[in-house]
Amino acid sequence: MPQATKKKPNKNNNLLRWVIFTFLLLFFCAMMTSLLAPSGAIEEVPLSDVIARANDENGNIAKITVEGSNLKITLRGEDYYTQVSRKDTSGTLYEQGLINQCEGLAGDELTNCQSKYPTIEYVEASNFWDYALDIAIIAIPVIIIFLFFNSMMRQAQSMNNQSMGFGKAKAKLYGPDKKKVTFQDVAGNESAKQDLAEIVDFLKEPKKYEKLGAKIPRGVLLAGEPGTGKTLMARAVAGEASVPFFSISGSEFAEMFVGVGASRVRDLFTKAKKNAPSIIFIDEIDAVAHKRDARGGAGREDEQTLNQILVEMDGFDNDSGVIVIAATNRVDMLDKALLRPGRFDRHVNVTLPERKDRLEILNVHFKNKPVEKDVNLEALAAKTAGSSGADLANIANEAAITAAREGHKEITNGDLTEAFERVAIGPERKSKAMNDHERKLTAYHEAGHAIVGHVLPDSDPVHKVTIIPRGRTGGVTWFLPPEDRSYKSIYELKDILARAMGGRIAEKLIFGEDAVTTGAASDLQHVAELSKEMIVEEGMGKATRDLVFPEGSTGYYTIATSKPYSEKTAELIDQEIKGLSNEAAARAEAVLKANKPVLDKLAEALLKHETLEEKELEPILKDAKLPVTAKLR
Ligand code: ADP
Ligand code: ZN
Repeated sequence: MPQATKKKPNKNNNLLRWVIFTFLLLFFCAMMTSLLAPSGAIEEVPLSDVIARANDENGNIAKITVEGSNLKITLRGEDYYTQVSRKDTSGTLYEQGLINQCEGLAGDELTNCQSKYPTIEYVEASNFWDYALDIAIIAIPVIIIFLFFNSMMRQAQSMNNQSMGFGKAKAKLYGPDKKKVTFQDVAGNESAKQDLAEIVDFLKEPKKYEKLGAKIPRGVLLAGEPGTGKTLMARAVAGEASVPFFSISGSEFAEMFVGVGASRVRDLFTKAKKNAPSIIFIDEIDAVAHKRDARGGAGREDEQTLNQILVEMDGFDNDSGVIVIAATNRVDMLDKALLRPGRFDRHVNVTLPERKDRLEILNVHFKNKPVEKDVNLEALAAKTAGSSGADLANIANEAAITAAREGHKEITNGDLTEAFERVAIGPERKSKAMNDHERKLTAYHEAGHAIVGHVLPDSDPVHKVTIIPRGRTGGVTWFLPPEDRSYKSIYELKDILARAMGGRIAEKLIFGEDAVTTGAASDLQHVAELSKEMIVEEGMGKATRDLVFPEGSTGYYTIATSKPYSEKTAELIDQEIKGLSNEAAARAEAVLKANKPVLDKLAEALLKHETLEEKELEPILKDAKLPVTAKLR
């Protein structure tokens, strides 16, 4: 375990409880002792004084009762009582000078002596029950009060937490002894790793920075889509620096009762500080730190939790040694207070992997899996554009499962393809019985997608067409995704809309206008979503070109009542969206009408072979041509 650089007093209820308890105890001891003292008067006198007076004929002491280390002294004349604690027990009282002056005397001499000097009496010291009774009289009320007080404190706390124990952070601690994740386990994302390497250095050598008066960052915000490896990277930072890793997810706070979130945050930070240097990882921080105005009347609980996080971070010393890493896929949603200097002022973007990064990620995940020599991870990397690291890890795992199920000793290219398609759409359903009509319909539907996609100039190349049902689809047309372009043109998007319409249009052309089936539902949904996005978010409308219609951060259609624009504008938006899908349908129809022979040929080939790959598609599709009516430019 790493050494804690600094321990701060644990300023929680425990301390307070003990202080109050101690006070109560002292108070009770004082009270009880005075109650137990016969005369009600207590006087502490040094033993030497007592001895001196005992040996003085005018010392005025009538009797000394020695009971263990206590001396009870009764004074003459007055009913005076005092007690001496013999702290120094080295040597007997006799050796220390307390001598019984009247020893050996008798009769009048004894009486005379006793009138001047004290009688010294030794009593059995360990009268256990006397002591026990004394102690019990003092202790019992104290214990009762302590217990009562304790339960009150707990009740107060649990009222705060609704239930006892809820306040404890369920943070997971990954100590250095747990399987260490390092930057080697994180493929790609070089720039993010570089930014984080600095954090590792802060954790390893804080002195280096302190000496130069540099402020060590307290918070790092990792921004990126789900599955891009944010958690993995945060763990790698902890692994590289060999410090403990505490993690909690923002969404866990969401389900908590009032006050619990804040108390968990407190607990988590206390733990992390105790184990400093350390890392606190807060996943999905947007769950608690959304803009205060983003959701109508943001939950008070979230706000309390967020405030507690801010309070804890503001309370860090420069050398607290705790670095908070938070992850989000919605930076735009975050409360600005979180991003201020001294809080999460370092931002690291984690992006979806590019092709070469995807290959690296695949290599990481296939490293310990047996693969056939000719397995082509490059090809898999090529067709997984847009996939996250988590998707790729998932494909790797599915490939191993598929290979095992098929009884392969090593993972084959076929296993890879099956895993890829299974992850993308769902498992193949060879058993799903389709009647001849359904098969024919599916064949024309997929052929429609393929031909429209093939012919339109800004569409991606067709990669594979199949009428084997998979997941919830009857068939699939795979397009090779474009390689990692940051921007898409309006032409590309319009071609995507048209090829998506291609399926339904082909069905209509062959089976008649009213023979429409539910098979195109997901295509139509895709068209609806994409065209909406183009108008509302991208400013791609005809009459609304360059105008966007943001609806706050909750999305366009969720709060229909709070549109920040007029009814007229809403109508215009609807028209524009409809315009895009109508145009797409018209273009698809134009293409398919112009290529009816190709459509028939492709559908027939599909019915015969079920699946056609690029090289089998090529000879059929090469005859298809683009009609002028489908041209955009
Ligand atoms: P996030 O926190 O961004 O949602 P995770 O870190 O939880 O993503 O990623 C989930 C899994 O995906 C990881 O455990 C890992 O197996 C895999 N993964 C994601 N990104 C990478 C990467 N860059 N290199 C290797 N594996 C990755
Ligand atoms: Zn379709």
